[in-house]
Amino acid sequence: RARPNDLRAFWMPFTANRQFKQAPRLLVAAKDMHYTTDDGRMVLDATSGLWCVNAGHGRPKITQAIQQQAAEMDYAPPFQMGHPLAFELANRLVEIAPKGMDHVFFTNSGSESVETALKIALAYHRVRGEGARTRLIGRERGYHGVNFGGTAVGGIVGNRKMYGTLVGGVDHLPHTHLPDRNAFSRGEPEHGGEDLANTLERLVGLHDASTIAAVIVEPVAGSTGVLIPPKGYLQRLREICDKHGILLIFDEVITGFGRLGTPFAADAFGVTPDIITAAKGVTNGAVPMGAVFVKKEIYDTFMTGPEHLIEFAHGYTYSAHPLACAAGVATMETYKDEGLLTRGSGEIGKYWEDALHSLKDAPHVIDIRNIGLVGAIELEPIDGQPTKRAFSAFLKAFEKNLLIRTTGDIIAMSPPLIVEKEHIDQIVTILREVLTSVE
Ligand code: PMP
Repeated sequence: RARPNDLRAFWMPFTANRQFKQAPRLLVAAKDMHYTTDDGRMVLDATSGLWCVNAGHGRPKITQAIQQQAAEMDYAPPFQMGHPLAFELANRLVEIAPKGMDHVFFTNSGSESVETALKIALAYHRVRGEGARTRLIGRERGYHGVNFGGTAVGGIVGNRKMYGTLVGGVDHLPHTHLPDRNAFSRGEPEHGGEDLANTLERLVGLHDASTIAAVIVEPVAGSTGVLIPPKGYLQRLREICDKHGILLIFDEVITGFGRLGTPFAADAFGVTPDIITAAKGVTNGAVPMGAVFVKKEIYDTFMTGPEHLIEFAHGYTYSAHPLACAAGVATMETYKDEGLLTRGSGEIGKYWEDALHSLKDAPHVIDIRNIGLVGAIELEPIDGQPTKRAFSAFLKAFEKNLLIRTTGDIIAMSPPLIVEKEHIDQIVTILREVLTSVE
């Protein structure tokens, strides 16, 4: 497809046009590990699109399932109606979900999954006669999408500041408790995970536990730079939430579906939350879809709680859209057939780790983090101020036919889980060249 003559009308998400004043780079095709650009270059995709194309691009089983479903039935209302694939997908998701997370609510994106999860948490307490539990707690540097609740609990100040008070009663756990150090690096025990999690006790002390509905965290923060919690952190959050009757929500929009070398982050860290939000990998990026997993007890509360309190009207026109469900079922089959959900904890994950860390002596590098098949390279700020180095690395890498992601001084990568050693070699070779050439 030819490049349109005029590229001005489409307003890219957020302020991307304004920030970077770049002519958009147009992608016209995608297959397995590569994109094709409109000028005919094959670009190695080290980001799985936007952390979503976990099984690689253009997998025939998935695209054919979508085509077949589109021809058979384009749409079915999700209220009072259903269609077989919705139930089949829900069952398949429950099969791979952490034990006990046995009900699934479908949405159309990560942001909608987050809103849904927050509303479930508030409504759950209300049905149980604990309607005073309305406070929500996120974490600094957490990202939970762009809708109102997700923006409010999100820990990126810049994303909130244009909107005033989005929702009342929100706090954020600190991101670190170490002077001048990032506690979230590679899970080292000396970074004091328990101490950091104990900051939740301080918030509980400040507000009274009986006013707090839920804590929401990304088990590994993805879009703010692959921040891996110090050992014991998530366990301690779980303990504190249990002690005070607070629901724990894991936002697994990025970490779900094999990214960390396990089906979900809950498996990687041995901590089961009460609610999991997911999206992205559920359909391998092919059709928009999100999913919220809840524990049986939460589901049962809605089903068996006092009738007069159950007024939880929540759902989307496109919840469990047939095309998305078809894509989702085919995606789950692909993950299973190819062992993709655990591939990152095997040989290829180790290869990825070693390859990334071989860059520790490359110019500007101050930290390298990895888990499963995700990784980040943090570059040195200048006088404590973020630089444009990572963005410049992104531009140069793209010229060399490699797609990476950047946030501030951090380069983040999450290759499709079908990645092979030669792709990893290529990623590392190009990164070294690029890091050597940025100023
Ligand atoms: N939560 C997390 C952890 C995410 O990474 C994202 C998207 N990057 C979202 C929520 C929002 O998802 P979406 O963009 O599909 O709305």
